[in-house]
Amino acid sequence: MKDFVFKKKLGQNFLSDKNLLKAICADAGVDAKSEVLEIGAGAGSLTEVLSESAKKVVSFEIDRDLQEQLLGLGLSNVEFVFEDFMKRSMTEVESLFDGKFKVVANLPYYITTPIIFRLLEESEKVQSLTIMVQKEVAEKICSKVGDKDYGIPTVMTAFYGSAKITRIVSRHMFYPAPNVDSAILHIEIEKDKFVDIDKRQFSKFVKACFAMRRKTLFNNLGSLYNKTRLKEVLGEETLARRAESFSLDEFVELFKKCQSI
Ligand code: SAM
Repeated sequence: MKDFVFKKKLGQNFLSDKNLLKAICADAGVDAKSEVLEIGAGAGSLTEVLSESAKKVVSFEIDRDLQEQLLGLGLSNVEFVFEDFMKRSMTEVESLFDGKFKVVANLPYYITTPIIFRLLEESEKVQSLTIMVQKEVAEKICSKVGDKDYGIPTVMTAFYGSAKITRIVSRHMFYPAPNVDSAILHIEIEKDKFVDIDKRQFSKFVKACFAMRRKTLFNNLGSLYNKTRLKEVLGEETLARRAESFSLDEFVELFKKCQSI
């Protein structure tokens, strides 16, 4: 790692504290049967700890300047892929594993949300995500109905599984230290939660409901559906509420009812 120049634009804030790295592994429930996907190996500090507990680790790293360092670790159960994770199809990613896998990563901040939703929406084999993200992102995803942070990421994460913050991590645990604190977010995937719902259509529906946050459901859905039918199907009382006041189950109900319009 001598002479390594940290690239801010790639979100390179590395961890080295062994206790913290072990705690992340424990939060993820990694054991000798686990296959693990890591996105952003960095200098390999988390990769090394994961490789001690897991059966197999596949670790993506976009920065080829880290290749020598990572291959030099000599981790026999780790496969490094020196590519942009976002450019590999999910089918290709899944083919790197024998079965289901857990995602454990200190994610690059600039693409946290696209990575989370790519895994939630596109993968059939992800069991759980245990990821270091900005504290605000974790709080948003775990917020409750009516909170100011409650929004599309909250509802859509709950649609795919259950999310919780397992620990808050100070910015001073990273090198170089970022400007914000972080949190470990654990999302346990529950694939069979809403089998009868078209995921893509539901996601579009939720986005439409939140399109103008301060407006009522009627204002937001009025551009999608026939207004008279909307009133007949959902009723004026429901339509007078704002999206932030509906729980996931209520969104599912609304979505099902709107299918008949
Ligand atoms: N895991 C290491 C640690 O905890 O010290 C490094 C984490 S650092 C926050 C994120 C890493 O993701 C960086 O090494 C960066 O180069 C890498 N990265 C950024 N964008 C990526 C992408 N699209 N695909 C794969 N790796 C990426």
